Amino acid sequence: MSEQKHDWTKQEILEIYNKPLMELLYEAATVHRKFHDPNTVQVSTLLSIKTGGCPEDCGYCPQAARYHTDIEGNDLMQVSHVKAQALRAKASGSSRVCMGAAWRNVKDGPEFDQVLEMVRTINKLDMEVCCTLGMLTENQAQRLAEAGLYAYNHNLDTSEDYYKDVISTRAFEDRLDTIDNVRKSNVTVCSGGIIGMGEAIEDRAGMLVALATLNPQPESVPINALVAVEGTPMEDMEPISIWEMVRMVATTRIVMPETQVRLSAGRTQMSREGQAMCFFAGANSIFAGDKLLTTPNPDVNEDMEMFKLLGLNPQKPFTKVSQPKTVEASESQFKDLGEKPKWTRPGHSIARNEEAKAKSKLVE
Ligand code: SF4
Repeated sequence: MSEQKHDWTKQEILEIYNKPLMELLYEAATVHRKFHDPNTVQVSTLLSIKTGGCPEDCGYCPQAARYHTDIEGNDLMQVSHVKAQALRAKASGSSRVCMGAAWRNVKDGPEFDQVLEMVRTINKLDMEVCCTLGMLTENQAQRLAEAGLYAYNHNLDTSEDYYKDVISTRAFEDRLDTIDNVRKSNVTVCSGGIIGMGEAIEDRAGMLVALATLNPQPESVPINALVAVEGTPMEDMEPISIWEMVRMVATTRIVMPETQVRLSAGRTQMSREGQAMCFFAGANSIFAGDKLLTTPNPDVNEDMEMFKLLGLNPQKPFTKVSQPKTVEASESQFKDLGEKPKWTRPGHSIARNEEAKAKSKLVE
């Protein structure tokens, strides 16, 4: 039976976040044990199927074309390559493959058809398939659902207030609209954010209000610590402390009890003790693989050693939601509509994003 509460206020969430740490940990661990097996952690492998060259200006992202970073861009991967990577991920204990493409939004056409084929292929390997492809229309969400997509990731990143200081090429509202389009299909929602971007604690609480008041709440919530990459507007941000991560994970667990809370980017900067504390506080999912799209991540063997040390077991696929049925392209009820949706372009200016863009031109 669901015990989700959907009327969380920022004040209530701040009170939880700021509790004495031992009390916060105890409460989060108690909620965690009520809704989940505390010794099981879901393992996802993140695969960048199209890297770099993105037209957006997300201040944290090395894949934005306008900033000068060292990442190597590449075109959309072949289905056979994705299948080989998925098989490797499965053999090393992952139950889910999450495919990321550096796009502003999905466009109907041959590239999207290729992604749909990737989804069908991985679903047939009996793995959960997730995609993160940018903004999505309702018809596109339905097509992904038919192909056998299990989850769609679309992060809110931060609070609605702070969003304007991070991204100027789209609005917070666009994110919510895409999540709504995903919700109308049978695909589960994965949405979280990043801490350590210079936001206030109130912004962290604000982001959790936006996620926890969705009805239903997202099935997965990734919590990322910013990995400050040279050349991006956030290159000089100081790393957050493990205590902030633990507080964020514990608060997320309490306000979204049934959700899988994923420890995402920034794990290379955390000790095993720090990660263990996050698992105790309610994190029950990680990203595996030596890269998270473009930023470093612990090696799979290191993770499996940590699991052994802590007595954790990887979660089997389709434990929470059953395997979606795959409909072949030829039998699809949904067509390529060639839609050209008008997603917002607020177009305001963010000083540090403009500075990074100007610096990038000097380097070229
Ligand atoms: S986070 Fe995504 S949308 Fe933003 S610049 Fe990077 S790839 Fe593009």
